[in-house]
Amino acid sequence: SLDTFYRDSFVEVDLSAIQYNIHQLQQRLDEKTGVYAVVKADAYGHGDIQVAHAALEAGAEGLAVALLDEAIKLRHAGIDAPILVMGWTRPKDAVVAAEHEIAVTVFQEEWLKEAGLLSFSKSLKVHLKLDTGMGRIGVRSVAEMERILSYMKEENFFSLEALFTHFATADEEGLDYFATQEKRWNELFSHFKRIWPENVEVHTSNSAASMRYPGRLDHYVRFGISMYGLYPSSVVKKERPIDLQPAFSLHSQLIHVKRLEPGESISYGATYRTGNHEWIGTIPLGYADGWIRRLQGMDVLVDGKRQPIVGRICMDQFMIRLDQEYPIGTKVTLIGKQGEQEISADEVADQLETINYEIPCMISNRVPRVFL
Ligand code: PLP
Repeated sequence: SLDTFYRDSFVEVDLSAIQYNIHQLQQRLDEKTGVYAVVKADAYGHGDIQVAHAALEAGAEGLAVALLDEAIKLRHAGIDAPILVMGWTRPKDAVVAAEHEIAVTVFQEEWLKEAGLLSFSKSLKVHLKLDTGMGRIGVRSVAEMERILSYMKEENFFSLEALFTHFATADEEGLDYFATQEKRWNELFSHFKRIWPENVEVHTSNSAASMRYPGRLDHYVRFGISMYGLYPSSVVKKERPIDLQPAFSLHSQLIHVKRLEPGESISYGATYRTGNHEWIGTIPLGYADGWIRRLQGMDVLVDGKRQPIVGRICMDQFMIRLDQEYPIGTKVTLIGKQGEQEISADEVADQLETINYEIPCMISNRVPRVFL
């Protein structure tokens, strides 16, 4: 990392793993289909500017974020690739988006009319979102779409670049709902083509859809979780449509090691008591770093072996039971590999009864990211 820091806990982001994962997907896709790297939420906690550069270098043709602020941050970092804001942008901010040549997602007639009152010096790139069954944002009916498109035809400062949708169940075993969404997409798209003769691009697939159904007719896919080396669900993980390498690992060090007598207590509430003489290590990472209290019960890796967290996790520190004495400064891996042993983001997600997407996102920006 270029930034100096003075703490012993850090996230290591393997940018070559991200590039490997993109290459694996590219080999699976039709050669006409491109990749947009989804780098919202600070690239799912990995570091958006660095991931964006690595993804573009690996051949991604554009970037997708959730917020206009995220897109502007990338522009300020000197990135001039196409960027799409997939979430809702305030109509009054449309001029800022246009000035930065950032494409925004549109789906409301009122939005276009409000934005249409502003004065643009450059046309606003827009992607029209269809809600085919996600139920979140997007146009649902042909009538709504017709009104929006006729307004866009009148106003020449909107430049319609693409039509897109998002699948709710592309990572699941059952295909029925996915098929329902495809059917709605096809219906809306055939009306679109009738109304709008000019060519626009289409993009419908997230990681799951792009890896499992690579024959879909997307101009590009929106590649998020699997670009980071994680499968979108256990179903897809079992299928392994492409090989992936996780990019994210979390490391720290032992900053204190002591041998305790039997019957001594550890941490707030004195909930853990030593059974025998035990070696206890202290790790400088806690719930303010995103290593939340519910992770009590997890193991960490020291010397290539699993060692359990004992007692409550504190704001900035927690304790583990060691199998033997280790020197201060011994490496501790919380997510990642040591020798033959691995603690994956999937395992942490299982412990928290959540999805792997949440794990890199929840490690706070108090933990420095170091790039390989
Ligand atoms: N497209 C949209 C609209 C999204 O909201 C997301 C992320 O949630 C993605 C694509 C990327 O999905 P995934 O991370 O499953 O590849």
